[in-house]
Amino acid sequence: MLEGYTWENTCIVTDYDRTITTGEPWATTAFSVFSNCSSIPKIITQERKELFSFYRPIEVDETMEKEIWDKHMSDWHHKAIKVFTDHLTQEMMTDVTEHAIQETQLRQNFPNFLKKANQRNIPSVIFSAGISNIIEWVLEHHSVPFSGIYGNKLVFNDSGKCIWLDSEGVFIWKKNWKSIPSETQKITSWKSHEILLWDSLWDVLMSDKDKVSTRIGFLLSEYQEPSIRNQYNTDFDHVVESDDSDNGILEEVVHHLTQNSKNS
Ligand SMILES: [Mg+2]
Repeated sequence: MLEGYTWENTCIVTDYDRTITTGEPWATTAFSVFSNCSSIPKIITQERKELFSFYRPIEVDETMEKEIWDKHMSDWHHKAIKVFTDHLTQEMMTDVTEHAIQETQLRQNFPNFLKKANQRNIPSVIFSAGISNIIEWVLEHHSVPFSGIYGNKLVFNDSGKCIWLDSEGVFIWKKNWKSIPSETQKITSWKSHEILLWDSLWDVLMSDKDKVSTRIGFLLSEYQEPSIRNQYNTDFDHVVESDDSDNGILEEVVHHLTQNSKNS
């Protein structure tokens, strides 16, 4: 693993929820934080809860036929957006920001990994089907650097009503390198090697086919099926079986890059 990788030629493409953050089933995510805030009206919480109860088991069902799974994930995303555009206002967001910062747990060693990468001029792009405003607030609070985020940005009009800049947004099946804007692609275009980090088999599409890729996957405790474990071991170059740690792999990556770089 990582043969030919150096600080000079490497970039990072990473998922956010349950990858940079911890992966327990109850962990706060860049979407779920809205459920815990007193400023958020019950109708938002209730509608989101109903959507989660129905679609989350489908999201983690790695055995479902891809076409059916895609349809469900698309429906979930669009229904979740509609809940926000129907009920969310800008003044509710102050409370949401505080909850996001207080409740979100970052995976052990991940912040330090991104800081070291940034010091060595390694660009990092975050791919997420979550709310990018939340991701920015949490990472900036923890002084975690990143080069770009491709996610769902909440936008409010002059009256403070939530609108959506992109009518489609980024949902899990659109976490595809080909679908991201060219200005985000340019962040890593000058690098020939990428390190991909994620927790879902579906995130494989985040890979830029023009680059040499090393895939590090976080296998969460939710995925208990032996067949799923086998699939992870097939699809990833390295599998971390932990909800809250990197089991030391990120420090190993830093060590490898340092050992193999001219300017180490
Ligand atoms: Mg994830």
